[in-house]
Amino acid sequence: MPRCLICGNTTHFGSSQCPPEVPEANGPMSSLMANFDQEGYLENMESIGAEEEISQHAWEDPQGYFDLCLECGSNNIQW
Ligand SMILES: [Zn+2]
Repeated sequence: MPRCLICGNTTHFGSSQCPPEVPEANGPMSSLMANFDQEGYLENMESIGAEEEISQHAWEDPQGYFDLCLECGSNNIQW
């Protein structure tokens, strides 16, 4: 399962391959965000402008896409 090595978050991750459409200081860090369950499985995904194709690939290969901790902003993620 994904785990942030900085803050220990295991549930909320984003993808650096999907930058936010409109960068905002306090906005989301990624246009593709995912929630993982306690077992490390992808529970649901939220796309706010990410391309459909990328969303599909991310769903099939979350490990290859979700590399940003949405809790602390770190990209120090261990799978
Ligand atoms: Zn973190």
